[in-house]
Amino acid sequence: MARIAIGGFQHETNTFAPSKADYAAFEAGGGWPGVQYGEPLFAAVEGANIPAAGAIQALRALGHSLVGTAWAAASPSAHVTADAFERIAGEMIRRLKSALPVEGVYLDLHGAMVVESYDDGEGELLRRVRDAVGPRVPVVASLDLHANVTRAMFDLADGLVAYRTYPHVDMAETGARAARLLDQILRTGRRPAAGFHQLDYLTGIPSQCSFVEPCKGIYRELGRLEEKTGAVLSFTPGFPMADFGDCGMAVFGYGSPEAVERLREIVSDAEKDFAMELHDAPDAVRRAKIRGEAGKPVVLADTQDNPGAGGNGDTTGLLRTLIQQDATDAVLGMLIDAPSARRAHEVGQGNSCVFELGGLSRIPGDAPLSGEFTVERLGDGRFTCTGPMFKGFRMTLGPMALLRSRAAPGVRVVLASRKCQAADQEMFRHVGVEPRAKRIVALKSSVHFRADFEPIAREVLVVKSPGPALADPAEFKWTKLRKGVRLRPLGPVHA
Ligand SMILES: [Zn+2]
Repeated sequence: MARIAIGGFQHETNTFAPSKADYAAFEAGGGWPGVQYGEPLFAAVEGANIPAAGAIQALRALGHSLVGTAWAAASPSAHVTADAFERIAGEMIRRLKSALPVEGVYLDLHGAMVVESYDDGEGELLRRVRDAVGPRVPVVASLDLHANVTRAMFDLADGLVAYRTYPHVDMAETGARAARLLDQILRTGRRPAAGFHQLDYLTGIPSQCSFVEPCKGIYRELGRLEEKTGAVLSFTPGFPMADFGDCGMAVFGYGSPEAVERLREIVSDAEKDFAMELHDAPDAVRRAKIRGEAGKPVVLADTQDNPGAGGNGDTTGLLRTLIQQDATDAVLGMLIDAPSARRAHEVGQGNSCVFELGGLSRIPGDAPLSGEFTVERLGDGRFTCTGPMFKGFRMTLGPMALLRSRAAPGVRVVLASRKCQAADQEMFRHVGVEPRAKRIVALKSSVHFRADFEPIAREVLVVKSPGPALADPAEFKWTKLRKGVRLRPLGPVHA
């Protein structure tokens, strides 16, 4: 049995977002465990829906012995700072070298990391890992479904295996799949024939959900192709907010280049089906007021301020509309505003005062929302998630609070101090709100919320309010993207 080095470095970079990911962001983790070095990384990820956790469990079950190097993740944001990258990658490589000889490497990567100093963050990391272990030691990585996969990443790794669900309920499972591919390469001593293609159009992330077409059908076909051919296949719709040459969709796989080519055709043919319906905030709230009821709320996705896509979760457009329209039994979460959460704790439960909520990132078209609110509940931000995607994640979101608008008493807002996407009902229960009992639930999320909230929702409306995670990639000012890419399905060509 083999000695295998384990590492991970997860970041999804929206180069248009307001804040960068510095080393402190990786210490905080943004809902994931904070940065880990050496053996403690095993305990930090254990039992959670995290790729490394699934890979570690699978590799141990296959009888391999594992050595921990470094594992780190931070909330999606603008670029990873050069300092954070060098500290984490540097420590990973130092520990990898001191662990040599190893017979294999597994890495838990996102695939859409842009560093201040490197457009292709994972390509650079894989280059350093490859330099450390040499050409013969197999290196296999799991990737997020939102990876922007580059030729360099594909060439430097012996295997890349991506999630196939969005919401990502299969993160740990994907780690296990990557582990089995690594094990197969080690057992046979052969690298299976590989194929890689990038596609020439971008799609907004709300249309990438694997619960609905076209992704639902694409992943079903991917599964059939795997069954028929024995290949290991991936389709990454990409993260269309990273301004660099290789941004966008890709298909790749191992064991049957023909199956990879067939998958490329399927994704290419699905272009028109990736078009999506977006609502402006006034229309969405009007509709939700009519259709929502306790037990079956209408869920509004405030997609463009999604902390899972580089938003800071602090824009106020949708909250403002809920108040203006005097919605009843409505709650918005989580508004990430540490100063206001701290102020709520000072003011105390049951008391009211004027708050200046959100607007901290100064996003064009957004401003703080000023108004009198009552502090209904306080929380310390420590709880464990229970939904299908974040199950087992131990949150440390700092001071939290539930505020109720005095101007529109049917509107409540959940404040948190540290950035995290609203994709788990426990984020509301922590401050005493049962989402199912509301008529309108507004969420700072694009798609991940669907795993835990769609089962309780009468319907879901994707809302376009101010934020840095634009739902239509054609609205970004691209400067580095390769020429010839259509900026949305059947949309304008980047020239
Ligand atoms: Zn993702």
